[in-house]
Amino acid sequence: MHDAKVSAKGLRIYEPELETSPRRVTLVAELRAALNNGEIAVHVQPKAGLADGTVTGAEALVRWEHPELGRVSPDEFIPVAERSGLIGPLTTRVLDLSLAAVAGWRSAGHDLGIAVNLSTRSLHDADLVDEVARLLRRHDVPADRLTLEVTEGSVMADPARAVALLHQLRDLGVRLSVDDFGTGYSSLSYLKRLPVQEVKIDRSFVTGLTEDGEDVAIVRTIVDLGRHLGLQVVAEGVEERSTWELLASMGCDLAQGWYLGRPMPIGELVPWLRTRERAEGRGGLRVV
Ligand code: C2E
Ligand code: MG
Ligand code: MG
Ligand code: MG
Repeated sequence: MHDAKVSAKGLRIYEPELETSPRRVTLVAELRAALNNGEIAVHVQPKAGLADGTVTGAEALVRWEHPELGRVSPDEFIPVAERSGLIGPLTTRVLDLSLAAVAGWRSAGHDLGIAVNLSTRSLHDADLVDEVARLLRRHDVPADRLTLEVTEGSVMADPARAVALLHQLRDLGVRLSVDDFGTGYSSLSYLKRLPVQEVKIDRSFVTGLTEDGEDVAIVRTIVDLGRHLGLQVVAEGVEERSTWELLASMGCDLAQGWYLGRPMPIGELVPWLRTRERAEGRGGLRVV
C-alpha cells in the first residue's frame, strides 16, 4: 500500500517506504511482542512552579528498550502504533504505569500529578473514557491528578469528535492540556472552544529563548493569552537558568526541561525529590 503524508507546509509527500520498509514491518511485530514482555516502560520528567521551584508533578514519557534495536524513540514508534492498531493497548499501558506511579508517590507522602500524552487515534477511541475511569479507580487516584496532553494537530484531525471526547474526559474530572502549543496552523480562538486547563509552549520557542527576540515575543504572547483565558501556562524544553529566569519574569506558571531534571525511571523520582529537599535545606537549591 502506498502512503501519502501531509507535510507541515500542507504538501502531500509520497512516502512509498513508510508502509513497507523492513524496519517498519519489524517494529510492528516487535511492538506487539514488547507490549507483552515488559520492554515498554514509562520515564517521568518533573515539572515545577517557575516562581518558587516547587515540583508539582511530572510528564510520563513512554520508553521502549528493544534488546537488539536499542532504545527506539517514541517519535518513531508512536506513529507505528497508530497505524497498526496498537495505540489503544499502548496508551492503556502508559496510563496504567503512570497512575501506579502516582499512587506510589502518594503513599511515600508526595502528592504529585502526572501528565500523559494522547495521540490522534486515542482521541477517536470511544473506549478511552471508560479505560481512564477504570484505571483511576483501580489505582485510587483522584481524577484531577491526571492531565491528558493533546496536540492541536490531533484535535484538528476530526475536531467535532475530539472535542466531544475531551468533554467526556473533562466530566471525569481529568485535567486537559494542549501540548506543543504554537506549532499548529489554526486560529488562536480554537483554544476558547476546547475544555482545557493548560497550554504547554512548544520547546522550539523556549530552548533558545534568551537569544531570540522573536521567540521572546511569541512566548510572551502565549503567556498573556493563557492568563487572559484563565489557563495554566507551562514552558517545555527549559535547558538553562537564564531561560528559567526570563520565563519567571514573564509570569509563566510552570517549567519542564533539562535544567530542572531529565526524564528518569519512575523509581528515581522520590530519591531525586529528597536530594533537592536536602540541597534546599543547605541553601544550595540548584533551580531558582
Ligand atoms: P512531548 O510530549 O512534547 O514531550 C517532550 C519531549 O521533549 C520529550 O521527548 C522529552 O524527553 C523532551 N525534552 C524534555 N525536556 C527537554 C529539554 O530541556 N531539551 C530538549 N531538547 N528536549 C527535552 P521524548 O521523550 O523523546 O518524546 C517525544 C514525543 O513523543 C513527545 O513529545 C510526545 O509527543 C510523544 N510521546 C512520548 N510518550 C508518549 C506516550 O506515552 N504516548 C503518546 N501518544 N505519545 C508519547
Ligand atoms: Mg507532552
Ligand atoms: Mg510537548
Ligand atoms: Mg513534542
